[in-house]
Amino acid sequence: MDLDFTPTDLAFRDEVRALIAQTFPDHAPREQNADDEARWRDALLARGWAANKWPVQFGGPGWSATQAFIWERETSRAGLPPQVGGMGMGMLAPILFGYGSPQQQARFLPDILADKVRWCQGYSEPGAGSDLASLRTAAELEGDHYVITGEKVWTSGAHQADWMFCLTRTATEAKKQAGITFLLVDMRTPGIEVSPIISLDGRHSFNRVTFDGVRVPVENRIGEEGQGWTYAKGLLTHERTGQAYVSLSLNLLAGIRAAATDNGLIREPGFARRLMETEIELKALEMTELRTLWEVAAGDAPGAQSSMLKLKGTEIVQRMTELYVETAGDYAAPWFPQAAGPAPSPPLGPAWARREVARYYEGRAASIAGGTDEVQRNIMAKAVLRV
Ligand SMILES: Cc1cc2nc3c(=O)[nH]c(=O)nc-3n(C[C@H](O)[C@H](O)[C@H](O)COP(=O)(O)OP(=O)(O)OC[C@H]3O[C@@H](n4cnc5c(N)ncnc54)[C@H](O)[C@@H]3O)c2cc1C
Repeated sequence: MDLDFTPTDLAFRDEVRALIAQTFPDHAPREQNADDEARWRDALLARGWAANKWPVQFGGPGWSATQAFIWERETSRAGLPPQVGGMGMGMLAPILFGYGSPQQQARFLPDILADKVRWCQGYSEPGAGSDLASLRTAAELEGDHYVITGEKVWTSGAHQADWMFCLTRTATEAKKQAGITFLLVDMRTPGIEVSPIISLDGRHSFNRVTFDGVRVPVENRIGEEGQGWTYAKGLLTHERTGQAYVSLSLNLLAGIRAAATDNGLIREPGFARRLMETEIELKALEMTELRTLWEVAAGDAPGAQSSMLKLKGTEIVQRMTELYVETAGDYAAPWFPQAAGPAPSPPLGPAWARREVARYYEGRAASIAGGTDEVQRNIMAKAVLRV
C-alpha cells in the first residue's frame, strides 16, 4: 500500500477542495440541512463523482486508494458526506455488478447513478435479525411471477423508497441458508403495506412492511433461485465496510476539540487522556479502512475485515459521542426536534454549542444496524480465528 502523495494526488486534492469551495461559495455546509445536501448531491452528479466507489465500466471515476483516501478526508473535514445515493448506490450496486444480469444492470444502475430511485433493504424480520437465515417471508413461483407473503421489520426508509431489495424463502427442505432467493420488488406493487415504527427520538425512519400476495416478475430475481444467501452476505460486507464511520468520527473529534479548547475542558488531564486514546484508535481504524479500500481497489472483495471495521468504528463513534456530550455539558441537552427547530435569535451560547450534539446519540444504534457487535465478533471468530 503506497500512500505517499504524488503530484497527481496533490492536484486531485486541490480539485476536491475547489469543488467544495465552488459548491458552497457563500457558507460552510450545514449539518443535516436538506438544501445543502441537495446542492452537494447535484455537484457530485454533475462532476461525475457521485458513484465514487463504482468500477469505471459502470460509471465510477476510477480513483486510486490514495485518491479515495483524499476524498474521504477532504469531504469529512468540510462536514460533507463522502457518498450520496443511499442504499442503491452503496449496497445494491455492488451486487448488481457481481451477480445482476446485463439486463438488470442496464435497467437499474443508470437510475441509481442519477439518484432517481430510492432503495430500501428488506432483510430483517420478526425472529430473523441476527439469525437472518431463519427468515420466513415466502416467495412461491407461479408461472413467471413469485408471489410474496410475509413481513419485514426495521426497514429504514421504506416509506420513501421506490424499490426494495428483499430476501425471501423459496425452499424449506434443505439447510436454511440454501432456500433463500434475492428479489427486487417495486414498492408500488399491490399487496405491500408500509407502517411506521416511530423511534424513541420521535423520528420516523423505521417501518414494518407486510406482503400479501405480492407478485414480482421472475426477471427481478438476482442470480439463481435459492442462492440469495451468497448475494446477501456479499451485500452485507459492502454495507459493513461502509460502516467504519471514520469521517463522522473525525468530524466529531474536530467538534470536541474546538469545544473543549473553548471551555477549558481540554486542560483536564483525565479528559485529555481519553480524548487522545480515542484519537489514536481512530487513526488505527483509518489505516485499516484504507488498507481495505486499497485491497478492494485491487479487485478483492471485502471479507471479515468489514466486520472488524464495523465493530471498531462503532465503538469509536460511540465513545466520541460520549466525549462530545461530556464536553458540551448543558448544551448537549436539547432533544432532536427542539435542536432542529429555528435557531434562537440572538443565538444562545458559543458557536460549538449550537451543534445538535444530542442528535449524534443516534449513533448508539450503530452497534445494532447492519448486524450487532456480537454477530461481528462471531463472524471474526469463524473467519479469522477459525474457532
Ligand atoms: C439504525 C438501524 C437501521 C436498520 N435498518 C434496517 C434495514 O434497513 N433493513 C433491515 O432489514 N434491517 C434493518 N435493521 C435491523 C437490524 O439489521 C437488526 O436489528 C439486527 O440485525 C439485529 O436483529 P434483531 O433486532 O432481531 O435482534 P436479535 O437478533 O433478536 O438480537 C438481540 C440480542 O441478542 C444478541 N444475539 C443474537 N444472536 C446472537 C448470537 N448468536 N451470539 C451472540 N449474541 C447474539 C444480539 O447481539 C442482540 O444483542 C436496522 C437496525 C437499526 C438499529
